[in-house]
Order: sequence, then structure tokens, then C-alpha cells
Amino acid sequence: MKGTPVAATSAAPVTVACTFCNKPTAEVKKMIAGPGVFICNECVGLCMEILASQPETTASESEGTASEPAEMPKPPSWEERVSDDDLLATLPKIAAASASVEQQLGIWVRQARSRGITWTRIGAAMDMTRQSAWERFSGEE
Ligand SMILES: [Zn+2]
Repeated sequence: MKGTPVAATSAAPVTVACTFCNKPTAEVKKMIAGPGVFICNECVGLCMEILASQPETTASESEGTASEPAEMPKPPSWEERVSDDDLLATLPKIAAASASVEQQLGIWVRQARSRGITWTRIGAAMDMTRQSAWERFSGEE
């Protein structure tokens, strides 16, 4: 058993964690927010290393060997080195990122509702019906 509990601040209703590495805000120096996602200073640093290690190409002028469209978050260097254990370890991280984004979405929808924005407009904004938006976010049966 370790000594005193570290997390004394129980006020935070939402745990913010880096969408990329899943580290909570308390474990990193800076957390930068995007629409429903977060990235920590450590992941930004890693991104900068990756960018610095790859020569820049302009998308319009180079063909074939140009940087591929980043449709899937699967940098080849990671894919090649990853072991089965690492692969499996990634699964709960993706699930955690998904849950975090869903949580953020819920917070934003509740904010929209608190402004009196209708379920119809919220649904339309997300390309779903009023009914679907209500069922997903209202928390009511
Ligand atoms: Zn991170």
C-alpha cells in the first residue's frame, strides 16, 4: 500500500486525456484541445520529430512518392515495428479515445440544449434525425 492519495481534486467532472496517447492532463505539461479531441505536449513533440525526419513535399508538384493521404492513423514506421502485444495494447487506447470523443460530443450537445437549440437543429447539424439525436444524447428513455 502506498501512502497518501495523490488525486485530491475530486471536483473535475470530466477526465481529459490525450486522444493520441491516452495520458491524462495531470501526467503531461500541456494539453491542447481540438473539436472533441486532445493532444498533449509529448505527442506534439513526437509529431514534430516525425515531421522533421521526413523531407517536405508539396502535394501538387510531386507524384507517386509524395506523402500519402492520411486517411488512417497508421504511420508505416509504427506498423512495421509493432508487435502483437503492442497491437493488442492499442485496442483499449482506441476504445478510450472513442469514449472520450463521445463524452465530449455529449458535453457539446448538452451545451447546445442549454442554449435552447432544438433537437431538430442538433440532429441536422450531425446529419441525423431529431429522433436519433434525442435518443443518443438526451439520456432519456
Ligand atoms: Zn499524448
